[in-house]
Amino acid sequence: MTPSRSVIVGALIGGAVGDAMGAPFEGLWSHDIPSAESLASSFHEYHGHPTGQYTDDTQLTVATVQSIVQHGDIVTPDIARSISELWRHHSVIGPGGACTHAAESYLATGDYENMGAPVGQAGNGTAMRIAAIRLWFGGDIPSLVSTVADISRLTHQDPRSVAGGVVIALAANRLAADPFIDSTDLCYLLADTISEINGELSSLIRALPIQMQRPDCERFIAAAGQSSTEFAAPIISPFVVPTVLASLYCVFQHRNSWVDAVTSAVQLGGDVDTLGAIVGALAGVIHGVESIPPKLVSDLQDSSLIQVLASRYHTLIEGRSGECPTT
Ligand SMILES: [Mg+2]
Repeated sequence: MTPSRSVIVGALIGGAVGDAMGAPFEGLWSHDIPSAESLASSFHEYHGHPTGQYTDDTQLTVATVQSIVQHGDIVTPDIARSISELWRHHSVIGPGGACTHAAESYLATGDYENMGAPVGQAGNGTAMRIAAIRLWFGGDIPSLVSTVADISRLTHQDPRSVAGGVVIALAANRLAADPFIDSTDLCYLLADTISEINGELSSLIRALPIQMQRPDCERFIAAAGQSSTEFAAPIISPFVVPTVLASLYCVFQHRNSWVDAVTSAVQLGGDVDTLGAIVGALAGVIHGVESIPPKLVSDLQDSSLIQVLASRYHTLIEGRSGECPTT
């Protein structure tokens, strides 16, 4: 079934709004972040930037979708070019180390197959930008997994980051098909799908439903995949493992509301522009663009351009499937 225009615009605009909502608070502790009501009412000042400015998470997502729309297909070498162009123009806001390594490598060599940062750099740069890819695929999960893995490896060769990209893409794909799919069923599907890419993240996702019944779940998430807990209080680092778990956690905890899911993600503290971007996109898939506060949509930088891009992407997907929108 083809996702409706509302779902596709909701994914792109939802991710961008969540990114811009969290950007002013990146790196802060949870207790230093404003209330949910305040976050949802208007964008806060992001020093040195205009109101509603999004960051690299949305920039890389938009670059990916622009490539697909231009080619009418997913052409991995061109996605590498489209992403790397952002670095050529020095226009990336808050870039991660692995993505910078990959883009600079590509710009120097033109080699997209070996541009990804080496194993050991397991940042969240794959999960943050994969929003759009998932909607390209209907029920063809094997194609989704192999394509998303290829696109993830453009910037990150570490299997944890590759698996994280696949998890977010597949979660969104399934939520688009069934917005109220059982959380445990979805976690098991995600865990099974990535088990051969990275067993550690697979096991942690399989454990998430049980952990969510415990009061210290946020501490479990913050420490996931790390040999020692770096901080005294839970905070979500740019490491892909806790980022992916935290994103699923926020969506599962607040399945009925885009605002509740995204503000809860930003309030976790840490890498909250990326968390806002991922949860904003996932919740946008569930609820559609109408669920996002209109003031935030209108105040978002480049809102009209992103909506036009999303509409063109929807038209492309609709034509590709030959089916009618379902919602
Ligand atoms: Mg960012």
